[in-house]
Amino acid sequence: MTTTMNFNNYDYLFKVVLIGESGVGKSSLMLRFTKIKTLELDDKLVKLQIWDTSGQERFRTITRSYYRGAKGIILVYDVTDRQSFDCIKDWMEETDRYCEKNCCSIVIGNKSDLESKREVPKEIGQLFAEQYGLKFIETSAKMNQNVNAMFRQISKQMKQSEIKNLD
Ligand code: GDP
Ligand code: MG
Repeated sequence: MTTTMNFNNYDYLFKVVLIGESGVGKSSLMLRFTKIKTLELDDKLVKLQIWDTSGQERFRTITRSYYRGAKGIILVYDVTDRQSFDCIKDWMEETDRYCEKNCCSIVIGNKSDLESKREVPKEIGQLFAEQYGLKFIETSAKMNQNVNAMFRQISKQMKQSEIKNLD
């Protein structure tokens, strides 16, 4: 018996971009996820196409094509680096300018395992995100904490936004 290979074996395919200062852990978060690539939400298979900046953010030279077609934006700062948190506002301005209207964003405080070096209290990150009506999660790419939860949350938002758009 032969089975037909279905290369589109997913219900949703979303482009997600990681954004934030250099060194906050974007590449590490992505590497955690590339092992699974897909996730299941309400019996639907969601496949994520995750884009990493490959260091362009250091020179503020992220090109328009990086954002083109993105449905999800993961705004990452490092909880041990106050400056990376302060820069989230700037990154939001940039994504507002370049991304489509129906884009979903989430704020991530990464490196939550480094409690003794923490410069940004969890409540401050939470409050900041709330001001913009965004979800907020603290993660540790190193300990693989909340990384899947982060991708699940943004996927949930993108799926809801997609359904709304079709209505
Ligand atoms: P990027 O520049 O945003 O892509 O950041 P990287 O993923 O290259 O990470 C920068 C540095 O932070 C590397 O040395 C990582 O090992 C480290 N790092 C990333 N995530 C975490 C984390 O959750 N906890 C700790 N302790 N270190 C991390
Ligand atoms: Mg990187």
